[in-house]
Amino acid sequence: MLRRSALMPSCSSWPIRRILLAAPVLLGAACFGLRGHSVQSPADVGARENTSRAEPVDLLQACRQMADWLTRQLRTDGSVVVHAPYVIGGDLAIEELTRRYQESIDPAGRAIIGEYLHAPPSRPTVILLARGEASYRRFADRLFGIGPESDFGFYRPHVRMLLVNTARGESGLVHELTHALLTADLPSVPEWFNEGLASLHEDSRLQDGVLVGQDNWRLPILQEAIRSDRFLSLESLVRPGGFRSRPIWLSYAQARYFCMFMQQRGVLRDCCRLLRGATSEDPSGMAAISQAFGGEDLDRIDAEFRRWALRRGTDATPPRKADADAEAR
Ligand SMILES: [Zn+2]
Repeated sequence: MLRRSALMPSCSSWPIRRILLAAPVLLGAACFGLRGHSVQSPADVGARENTSRAEPVDLLQACRQMADWLTRQLRTDGSVVVHAPYVIGGDLAIEELTRRYQESIDPAGRAIIGEYLHAPPSRPTVILLARGEASYRRFADRLFGIGPESDFGFYRPHVRMLLVNTARGESGLVHELTHALLTADLPSVPEWFNEGLASLHEDSRLQDGVLVGQDNWRLPILQEAIRSDRFLSLESLVRPGGFRSRPIWLSYAQARYFCMFMQQRGVLRDCCRLLRGATSEDPSGMAAISQAFGGEDLDRIDAEFRRWALRRGTDATPPRKADADAEAR
């Protein structure tokens, strides 16, 4: 059973024949991660080349190519294993990387794909696991040319890579994995749904093939905001730009618990399907929410959500505001 304990961010198909022909030059160029520059990975190249022609993908071969590239990036700093569609690396032993795949990545990935996606990824997803703070920051600098904006992990869709600081617990891995799988299949997903679903999965258990969200430390934040009348409307959360226009820790709490509310009402999967069908006419997802609830008015859904949230009980203690900001990702 998956049980997350704690706190707490695409591409198209890859023309493998062209990559194989170009590999010596491309992989050579990809081996240098300079500060302030994005590292060019095989995924970058594939995404650009695919704009001119589409060819069948040999996923395993593509993963092996990516593993070669990642091995060069890590130098003597870790191990890499391939479990297509995942290329998993980090400063952990191969046995430990394999254990993470078997116990977390594979079951969580299967649940997310089965419940929300059209199909498994057709291109490699790189999962980089750092043992602690030092290697987390070293990998962020070497592979992404940045200092990490979160202490827990992050995902970069343009290179289909996620980096997780495993010293901060397991929840970051399934959070970022949700982003990787969801945005690969549904690139235009609204931010409130992307972060709400990823945050829901931070604390979840696997039940009948579905990751079912459990209460966590974000509930007291939401309840306190509702009781003190600092709670902003559901519409203000989901409208374009709304997620980042207010205290971010409140947006995460509200989006997570609204996804849990939909899951308990049995409409979360439907909402995802409806978001997929109408993102050009309904980029915020407001119409999708209403349709998922059988045409209900958004204000009435919001009022029912608040009553439901206030009835929930938890022993969780809300973190200090600074910690809550740091855990938003
Ligand atoms: Zn996130």
